[in-house]
Amino acid sequence: MGGSDATVAPATSAPAVAGRLRITEIFHSIQGEADAIGWPTVFVRLTGCPLRCVWCDTEYAFHGGEWRAIEDILAEVAGHGARHVCVTGGEPLAQKRCLVLLRRLCDAGYEVSLETSGALDVAAVDPRVRKVVDLKAPGSGEEKRNLWSNLDHLLPHDQVKIVIAGRGDYEWARQVVAEHGLDRRCTVLFSPVHGAVEPRALAEWILEDRLPVRFQLQLHKLLWNDAQGR
Ligand code: SF4
Repeated sequence: MGGSDATVAPATSAPAVAGRLRITEIFHSIQGEADAIGWPTVFVRLTGCPLRCVWCDTEYAFHGGEWRAIEDILAEVAGHGARHVCVTGGEPLAQKRCLVLLRRLCDAGYEVSLETSGALDVAAVDPRVRKVVDLKAPGSGEEKRNLWSNLDHLLPHDQVKIVIAGRGDYEWARQVVAEHGLDRRCTVLFSPVHGAVEPRALAEWILEDRLPVRFQLQLHKLLWNDAQGR
């Protein structure tokens, strides 16, 4: 879910042409995180990511994919009959036409969310979109990619998500929330890395420190053990 020169690798089957995006998958599932948790949602997963977080759970979206026309994507989304649409990756903003897709989805009346790494500029994202912007803690291996100017483009309906892989990440996140007044800008989500930190430990740290953040577990991992397309 970084720099414009670090976009997706060249397509193997078709050239990039106006109005097309490289797509890994489109599927209908339950939203497993953030504000829209629990809603039946159509996920549009764009191919490619310039980051390599050590705990990434969507490595299958780094390569491959299929070039699809935006009209075609919109038609498939409509076929699922859901109100909520989540554009994710990979890093969806690595493909510039993602901005067009987001706008078209909003125009069509969907509740649209965007999951992004926080490494690419979100300034041009349609303000109707609920952005879920990661801040990469040191345990991700990608802390240097955080584009701090993104914090200036957060709207009250957006969310900042920090994935926590241990106590060190937690202390980093606590410091970042305080330093940037993140909780006064939008909802802040702390999420444990599956298998790396006990969810209960993270919950207790948040309570002990009276942090104004929202703890979350990824619902789709509980429901489907993170199967692709779910
Ligand atoms: S930004 Fe998202 S998709 Fe990219 S490596 Fe990190 S977790 Fe994976």
